[in-house]
Amino acid sequence: MRARIVLVLMLSTTFVAGLLRLLEFPQRKETAIVLDNQPSKTKLSSPPTPVAEPTITPSPSPSLMPTLLPSPEETPITATPPSTSSFVGTLRLIIPVTGVRPEQLLDTFTDARSEGRVHDAIDIPAAPGTPVLAAADGEIIKLFQSERGGTTIYQLSNDKKLVFYYAHLQRYADGLAAGNYAKQGDVIAYVGDTGNAGPGNYHLHFSISIINDPKRYWEGTNINPYPLLHR
Ligand SMILES: [Zn+2]
Repeated sequence: MRARIVLVLMLSTTFVAGLLRLLEFPQRKETAIVLDNQPSKTKLSSPPTPVAEPTITPSPSPSLMPTLLPSPEETPITATPPSTSSFVGTLRLIIPVTGVRPEQLLDTFTDARSEGRVHDAIDIPAAPGTPVLAAADGEIIKLFQSERGGTTIYQLSNDKKLVFYYAHLQRYADGLAAGNYAKQGDVIAYVGDTGNAGPGNYHLHFSISIINDPKRYWEGTNINPYPLLHR
């Protein structure tokens, strides 16, 4: 009987030892996982930098390239504002309406107009009959009655590269004729609402265009008068 009890005890102790071993295994495994995690953690912490670097460096360069490439293609379109800025400081214009101060001007160059057109000019509101002044020196090349512009004036710059256009005029200054030379500040007309200005919407419509041929003075590319007048 004793021997049996001893045997059972021995077996049970080995069983318990075995159980303990089994219990130890998961502990070892856990430590093994922890140990595995530590290098993997360092692996994880170190990769973000190399991973982030390639994603930052290659992605902007291909993504920027297409965005940078169209802009040179767009230069014919965007050529208008730079050409305006190229005249700022060199083209000394005056505001072509008596009594209007620079701070009163509004940039209406990109305003939409009928039939999908863009304004391409500046509108300077003023009371009817307010004197319209030559913005710069230059020859009056054309007095024209236009459906849209009403009573209008085309003036050629001294270098024959620019045309100043004055529209919606009430009337011309007395004696004004094509071929006259206007000095900057000379009264050439009076503010009105002729053409498509709208009855009672008294303002000067003033535009500046870069021309290739003075004989084809109406075919220029308009530049924004606002930065040239607002200074
Ligand atoms: Zn206008």
